[in-house]
Amino acid sequence: MRILILGPQGSGKGTQAKRLADAHGIAHLATGDILREAVSARTELGVRVAPILERGDLVPDDLMIELIRQRLEVEDGFVLDGFPRTLPQAQALDVMLDEIGKPLDVVVLLEVRDEVAVSRLHGRAGEEGRADDSPEAIANRLRLYHELTEPVTQQYRAAGALVEVDGEKGIEEVAAQIEQALAGTRLGSG
Ligand code: ADP
Repeated sequence: MRILILGPQGSGKGTQAKRLADAHGIAHLATGDILREAVSARTELGVRVAPILERGDLVPDDLMIELIRQRLEVEDGFVLDGFPRTLPQAQALDVMLDEIGKPLDVVVLLEVRDEVAVSRLHGRAGEEGRADDSPEAIANRLRLYHELTEPVTQQYRAAGALVEVDGEKGIEEVAAQIEQALAGTRLGSG
């Protein structure tokens, strides 16, 4: 099974993606985790992206597309989390999945209001010790989400490919709603 999960920072996207990967025995491809690992390992990539992550800015599209291409090629089933974040990334993803014959089964959008997202993010800052949980970086990440990632969600919505779930509900309830959506797509695809 191949799932794309979208949603703003603080929507619980990472939590749900992890749960989905465990429950269905598929890979959790989280671009933020991959980048943070590169930063801690001080690889060439890590050194290059560290200041970008710290500001809450976006890593250049070409770099992200190459990074994700390598993972998609080796995984059969996956939950994609954190990519695509821009229209060029979405376009590239479309082409890649088509080339390797691995279409997505479902695209899930977790919706939360900004005020809820911000209070969740401020709540977890310090707990996780992420460099990008400063108030400035949080504001920047949400601003970029609205400006660059929301158009991606609109595109999937317009294509009729989007399952929208209320991310303000509790973790279990959100998980149940996502499972319901997955069951629906499996029935739908015969
Ligand atoms: P969040 O969604 O909370 O901002 P992530 O862990 O998904 O956190 O991403 C952390 C950071 O990694 C982003 O702020 C950005 O700098 C970088 N990043 C992750 N995915 C992408 C992507 N697809 N395109 C560009 N930058 C990305």
